[in-house]
Amino acid sequence: MTGPAPGTPGLRPGSERPLTPRASAGVAARYAEIILPIPVPRTYTYLIPPELGSRVVPGARVVVPVQRRQVVGVVAAVDAAPPVPTVAAKAILAAPDAEPAITSSLFALGVWLSRYYGTPLGLALRALLPGALWSVRRPAGPAEQVERVLALTAALPSLLERERAFKRAPKRRVAYEALEAIGGSAPIPHLIARLGLSPAALDGLVAQGLARYTDVPRARDPFAGMSSPPPPDLTADQRRVVAGILATPPETPVLIQGVTGSGKTLVYLDVLRSVVASGNGAILLVPEIALTPQTVARVRGVFGDQVAVLHSGLSDGERADAWRALRRGERRVAVGPRSAVFAPVERLGAIVVDEEHESSYKQGTAPRYHARDVAFERARLEGARLILGSATPSLETLHLAAGGKVARFELPDRIGARPLPPVEVIDLRSAERVPDAHGVPWTVALDEAVRGALGRREQVILLLNRRGFATYLQCPACGDVPTCPRCAIALTVHQTPAALRCHYCGHEEPVPTVCRVCGKETQRMRGLGTQQLEHFVGLRFPEARIARMDLDTTSTKWAHHRVLERMAQGKIDILLGTQMIAKGLDFPNVTVVGVVDADTGLHLPDFRAAERTFQLVAQVAGRAGRGPKGGRVYVQTRAPDHHAIRAAAVHSVAQFAAAELPLRAPPNPTYPPHVGLARFVASHEDAGRVQQAAERVAGWLVRANTERLSGALSVLGPAPCPIERLKGRWRWHMLVKAAEPRAIGRVVRALGARARGVVVDRDPVSLL
Ligand code: ADP
Ligand code: ZN
Repeated sequence: MTGPAPGTPGLRPGSERPLTPRASAGVAARYAEIILPIPVPRTYTYLIPPELGSRVVPGARVVVPVQRRQVVGVVAAVDAAPPVPTVAAKAILAAPDAEPAITSSLFALGVWLSRYYGTPLGLALRALLPGALWSVRRPAGPAEQVERVLALTAALPSLLERERAFKRAPKRRVAYEALEAIGGSAPIPHLIARLGLSPAALDGLVAQGLARYTDVPRARDPFAGMSSPPPPDLTADQRRVVAGILATPPETPVLIQGVTGSGKTLVYLDVLRSVVASGNGAILLVPEIALTPQTVARVRGVFGDQVAVLHSGLSDGERADAWRALRRGERRVAVGPRSAVFAPVERLGAIVVDEEHESSYKQGTAPRYHARDVAFERARLEGARLILGSATPSLETLHLAAGGKVARFELPDRIGARPLPPVEVIDLRSAERVPDAHGVPWTVALDEAVRGALGRREQVILLLNRRGFATYLQCPACGDVPTCPRCAIALTVHQTPAALRCHYCGHEEPVPTVCRVCGKETQRMRGLGTQQLEHFVGLRFPEARIARMDLDTTSTKWAHHRVLERMAQGKIDILLGTQMIAKGLDFPNVTVVGVVDADTGLHLPDFRAAERTFQLVAQVAGRAGRGPKGGRVYVQTRAPDHHAIRAAAVHSVAQFAAAELPLRAPPNPTYPPHVGLARFVASHEDAGRVQQAAERVAGWLVRANTERLSGALSVLGPAPCPIERLKGRWRWHMLVKAAEPRAIGRVVRALGARARGVVVDRDPVSLL
């Protein structure tokens, strides 16, 4: 955090030390409006020292004094009006950017973020730059690494000159001609280690005035040097979609709706290839979890060293280098998760949002942006194409496609005409379970399928979207369930290591041996988590090599990629895990996919519960049968007739949308995509005060609605959130819905600017 704490009162620059020395030299003093990365919706006026005049331009970062500290801010405007005469402005201390860090179009995007999401501009701009560039200790960002290169400085065009120059130095001539052949300059290690030239010969060229050593910035690129095979030829279907997209006017966003395994990635890459060939840059957004070395290799296979990868697993230095290489135009294609939508790509020609339905595109802290929606705005501002892709598009995007605002292209078949795998829905209420399942929902049908696959040396994926060992602990005598002392949530039982853990705040306590209420000595575990599933499957299939993938096993950098690599090499027979394993994986030897309990998210109090369940089940089903051996999917559920399960079982987005859309329209309560939605969450340590605060906000919303918005909004609440208490704070929320985005925008901005302690979340992806 570089700025003062939120809401610091009295943040007034320039009130301590009058500073106008340069004005007295006869030159008119110049002032700049500076935005600080703090939640205060205003700018601050600072004096521009003449020596920084050329660098203090809109979008440039500057270091300015704030009270007794220094802060990195961004120039909003120059030649601003001088401050009120009695208050002298302080001077800007430094301007580290030779070129403004934030280009004018990105600045405009920041203004849009601020207005749309009701976030002070300072916080919106903070999201645009990598964290390292806000550090006042090193405002220029992490130091760049340099490498020494040898560059030719004199040409020897004629043979005669050459013979004269190298008469007694044949090795020097070899070095000279090698350098000439590879373009006139090369890193020293390359010349010595790879080309076998001697250091003495290189020194000789320099001494002779024919070459010079220089240091050039070298980007830290953890992906350099990895093998990137060229892409295969497009299928006829892929070619049809690429041609269709390129024939669509660039201002019309497109959706590629392609079934799992239909080869969407190659379509994106081919469209981007033509974008880059025409001299433009591009951004490819992928969900964090899908940003694997395999994905990067596929992109590098097309664009080579033009690719800059922005990933939260990179070091600060690596990320800053990738950012700088894009900003300078040295790299043209940015690949990354949601924040890559702000990548400083020069002459942006296209943005691709892969798996556009993914909720990980939504940022959880202010500005609470959705990268897909930001991509719409950025593409519009910069005249770039927008391409969304998914096998299970969000209802929002389907709605835009149905209304003609997005052009839809379909890839209805898998590559190689492989069929989508048949899905068997198993009714957990009646299906026969294996003996000694001990409460684990493990049916004979799933058991036989797994056993069959293992016998044929094929691989199995098991999805259970709940980590931990058991969902909660319960006393069989009095029924007590241990809950988190800070959150209104049952503690999850973990076994490796053993603890009760809160999945919301991380609180941990030992597993009790006796009930805290009645003292009974046996405690019963309820609800199945991935750890227990792993344990159970291990006992059931002792020969199988099993790996588990969930947040608890993948907390270290690149950990989940190592698991996936072993899976790809056939060193794992059963991969089990949470939704992490549902997306994007492409393992041809997986012939059985089992959804152990499809209902884990079905009954959450969130209007998207059915949509999420559909997407999850359809996506994980799409992991089966990607190779010539085919595959089959087993979905265990207690709600076999639910439209989300039925549609997922036939891989049908259309069937799901047809059932779900009416449920979100009158006479039912309306929800997106039919209306826009914003959520306001008040929280406080004191249960009474939070209720009062929520009632005040709700009262204000109701009044604003009748007095100024002609009743365009419907206001719901206030009511306690489904998770009533989180990290020691009680929580209440209100929702506003409106068909008219402008009405939502007005209350979002008003509350975002004024209401302290109220979280403003426009287009929320979670209502818990
Ligand atoms: P999706 O993202 O639509 O699920 P992918 O892009 O992952 O599909 O492609 C599925 C598989 O098909 C991958 O293994 C990919 O390498 C392969 N593939 C895609 N396009 C082609 C093609 N034109 N020829 C051969 N293989 C292809
Ligand atoms: Zn907690």
